[in-house]
Amino acid sequence: MRIDGILRDGRIHLSCEVFPPKKFDGIAQASAVAQEIAGLSPAFMSVTYGAAGKTPGHTLAIARAVAEAGVTPLCHLTCVQSTKEHVRTVLSEMQRAGMENVLALRGDLPREGEPEHDFTYAAELIEFIHAQGNFCVGAACYPEGHPESGGKRQDMDYLKRKVDAGVDFLTTQMFFDNGILYNFLYRALRAGINVPVCAGIMPICDARQVDRVVKLSGSIMPPRFAAIADRFADDPEAMAQAGIAFATEQIIDLIANGVTNIHLYTMNKPSITRAIVGNLSGILGKPAV
Ligand code: FAD
Repeated sequence: MRIDGILRDGRIHLSCEVFPPKKFDGIAQASAVAQEIAGLSPAFMSVTYGAAGKTPGHTLAIARAVAEAGVTPLCHLTCVQSTKEHVRTVLSEMQRAGMENVLALRGDLPREGEPEHDFTYAAELIEFIHAQGNFCVGAACYPEGHPESGGKRQDMDYLKRKVDAGVDFLTTQMFFDNGILYNFLYRALRAGINVPVCAGIMPICDARQVDRVVKLSGSIMPPRFAAIADRFADDPEAMAQAGIAFATEQIIDLIANGVTNIHLYTMNKPSITRAIVGNLSGILGKPAV
């Protein structure tokens, strides 16, 4: 099923993200984890693409496992370290496997060297994907601005160009302060961006994740969450409970304020996903007002 169709059906949705293993021998275990999360009936499940784009088969294997469990898969695809020939081959394999949905990304720039590549920005990949077949194409957006963009205004201009290249829906980088998302949605609408936006929520259930998340995403950590991480850092059970409660509260506030599509960065943790889905059991799937 096409994800843009799901997101426009007038209901409240929760989707989930999983990542594939780095090594081939981890595929069976990662597939089992993905299927356990799929058993919680998310609206769709996205499967990330290895950082350097070297393991597209792993993404596809997990996406197949998701589809076998009866949930619509979304395959991530990065381009900054790829040639057109490579991307064309990956897309053909996706088509053969019945994958209709692709999240088109630039990928992070390599730290060293410049491998052979034909793409500079995700917008070029989006145009290329549409030229290869009838895919539903999503893209990433950054409520706090992408770290390389030179500012939120500039980033919004580039996002508009990316959407105009053929984006059917957007998924946001994780954020921990809903005010940042509301401000982004307002600016996106003003820029003429009208595609559905999935709000990315990352439950932090281990205090050691905080520094890594801030470094990788550039997200602002609100003092309220910093206090939680500080207080419960040495008590894993309490930290997990507090992290789940914080993420649940964030999601409820988003839905109460009209956001209908939530994307959960599950970090391949079925227990955390199950707890959050359980907390929202009376809310998910209801008509959006
Ligand atoms: P782009 O949209 O190309 O933007 C990259 C930068 O270039 C931005 O600063 C933008 O403002 C700027 N820019 C865009 N167009 C222009 C232009 N014409 N001229 C000048 N500047 C321009 N990474 C992975 O490796 N695998 C994954 O599976 C993965 N999944 C992700 C999922 C989500 C929801 C998100 C938010 C990120 C994900 N990432 C993933 C990380 C992503 O690859 C990085 O954030 C990357 O640095 C940017 O990718 P992009 O597609 O947003 O790039």
